[in-house]
Parts: sequence; structure tokens; C-alpha cells
Amino acid sequence: MSDFRIAVFEGDGIGPEIMAPTLKILESVESSQSDYKFSYEIAPAGAKHYLETGEALPKSSIALAEECDAILLSAMGLPDVRYPDGTEITPQIELRMLFDLFAGVRPVTVRNDDFSPLTLPDGEAIDFVLVRESTEGLFHSMSTGEVTNDRARETLQITRKTSEKLFDFTFELAKKRKASGQGAGRVTCVDKANVFRAFAFFRDVFKERAKQHADIATDYAYVDAMALWMVQKPWAFDVLVTENMFGDILSDLGAGLMGGLGLAPSADIGENHAVFQPCHGSAPDIAGKGIANPFAMILSAAMMLEWLGHRHGVSQMNVDAIRIQKAVDAVLAEGVAVTGDIGGKASTRAAADAVLKHLV
Ligand code: NAD
Repeated sequence: MSDFRIAVFEGDGIGPEIMAPTLKILESVESSQSDYKFSYEIAPAGAKHYLETGEALPKSSIALAEECDAILLSAMGLPDVRYPDGTEITPQIELRMLFDLFAGVRPVTVRNDDFSPLTLPDGEAIDFVLVRESTEGLFHSMSTGEVTNDRARETLQITRKTSEKLFDFTFELAKKRKASGQGAGRVTCVDKANVFRAFAFFRDVFKERAKQHADIATDYAYVDAMALWMVQKPWAFDVLVTENMFGDILSDLGAGLMGGLGLAPSADIGENHAVFQPCHGSAPDIAGKGIANPFAMILSAAMMLEWLGHRHGVSQMNVDAIRIQKAVDAVLAEGVAVTGDIGGKASTRAAADAVLKHLV
């Protein structure tokens, strides 16, 4: 029996509302067999915590996250809660920097065509992964950008060290997808190498690392063209890799293809730690109403199972990750217990309970 400690950041807004049913689903999955066991430890942080204590991400929560085997996070931040410099509370971004979570993994999988704004040609499916570098790029000068009365200046940084790790991670991901029959074995480098020297450097490092992964095909796209192609021919892609800000923007476009942010899971992965969280934010406009879509959070928890299972050689966790994904698919296929953001009338609890029912 493997025991795993999970640090839980319940977050702000709809965060606690989607975290509670997700933990219930994880508890149900782990209690149905005996290969592994989770214990959950709450890590206080976020905008509400900042208002109450003056601290957005306490040292004790950082230490807890560091000790635990994985970090599960809902969403943090509230638009009206800001530091004196006018920027928002963003512990979720600080965790990426603190634990060097360089690979932001954003699967773009259309689980049910009915929820996608696109009509797919016969025989085509949208199932690709966007890997967003998550510690540098245009986020490098986060909180330290210079602003005067006349000028604002932020700095983009791309390093060889992080880019090499990022590209190696991405090629390994493409290999895993190819081996499981999920992908064609191709990585597309998304940049703006036609205009910026920093992106020409990014592309050069990509080319160098590609030589070490000759079984994976490569190609290139400028980010503006990629935004177009993600709408015009999203079925043509397998794995995309890009800079932090480009990835931030394209991953919301990817969420739109799937049917909305409520269906978009993600993982921020480093060499020793990983955070699993939905792509969406704290949705203050619907917080407290019990109508938030819990599926992105539940699918992020499934990604956590998959990561832990591979890392620790517990195959039952990978089986359970797929069980959860299939249960969500079944609820989406029925189209009844779905929340308002994707056209239904179900509450958060009813949608999560339907997933639980399909797990049995
Ligand atoms: P948001 O993702 O919170 O909301 C955008 C829209 O999508 C809203 O209309 C919201 O109601 C809807 N939405 C999002 N998640 C949903 C869900 N699960 N079910 C149903 N509808 C959902 O983005 P925003 O409004 O730009 O940001 C709100 C706050 O969240 C801000 O303070 C922002 O900084 C923060 N934020 C946090 C994260 C994070 O923690 N990773 C990410 C993005 C934004």
C-alpha cells in the first residue's frame, strides 16, 4: 500500500465549491481498492486569506506543499483584492516559480462534440496537448516591472536551461501519447521567431533538443497563425510547446474549443513537484451560488492520479485516472447533469454526484 500526502489549496470564489466534491470523488476511487491511500492537508492561501491575515501565501503553506507528494489547487485571486502596487494576489503563479514547475500541461480534448463551438469534419477529433512554459517568458518580470508616469516596461526572459528541460519533457510526452495510440508523435514549436531574437533562440534550442528525440516529428508555427489554425484545423495537432504568455492565451482558446473553461483541466509539472488545477479562475461572478462546473477540477485530479501513478509505479492510479475521465465522459454524453456554463441546469453537487454514480 502506498500512502500519499496531498496539499489542498481550496482557493477563492468557486474554489472551495469545486474542491469538496473532487475530494469526495478521489476518496471514492481510492476506497474501492487498496493499492494506495491519500491523506489531504489544507494549505491556507489566496485573496481571502490575504484580506484576513495580510499574507497571500504563508510560509507554512509553502512548506506543506513542498513536503507533500502532490498539490491540488482550485483557483485563487479576486479582482478587487490587490497589493498596493495594483497587481492581484496570485499564489498559484508564485508556486510555479517557487517549485520550478516549468511545464504547464493543458490537454485540449473535445470530450463531446455537442459542447464544442466547432462542427468537426467526419472522422476528425480534437485531442492535442498544449505545453506552456510556466516560469519565465513574459512572466519573468512579474511584480518587478518598471512603471513611471511615462513608460511601463516588462522583460521577457528565455533561458537555455529551462527551455531544454521544457523541450525534453514535451518530447517525452509526445512519445507517451504515440506509444498509447493517442497521438501521431509530433511536436509543434509555437513562437514568434520571425520578429524577436528571443524566440529565434527558443526555436534554436528546440531544434537542438529535437535531435535527441529523432523518433518524434517536428514542425513550427508562429503564434498568430497558431491562433487561426486552432480554430480552423485543431484536429491537425498532437503536442504544441510554447512560451509562458503565448501559452496563457492559447490555453484559453483551447478551453473554448472544448466547450468552456469549466471543462479544461491542467497540470504544472516540475522535476520534483506538481500542481494540478483547472485552467479557470475563481469565477467570482458565480461564487456562492452552487452552480460552478466541477468537471475541470475533477479532470485535473485525474491528471494528478496519472502523474503519481507513473512517478511511483502504482498502475492502479493510472487505471483510476481513466475511470474518472470515462465517468465525466459518460455524464457529458448523457448531457443531463451538466451545469449552466455548458447549457445545462444542474448544480455543482448534482454534476459531481453524477460522476460518482458512473464510477461505480
Ligand atoms: P475566470 O476563469 O474566473 O472566469 C471567466 C468566466 O468563466 C466567468 O464568467 C466565470 O463565471 C466562468 N467560469 C470559470 N470557471 C467556471 C466554472 N468552473 N464553471 C462555470 N463557469 C466558470 O476568470 P476571470 O473572471 O478573468 O478571473 C477571476 C479571478 O480568478 C481573478 O481574480 C483572476 O486573477 C483569478 N484567476 C485565477 C486563476 C488561477 O487560480 N489559476 C486563473 C485565472 C484567473
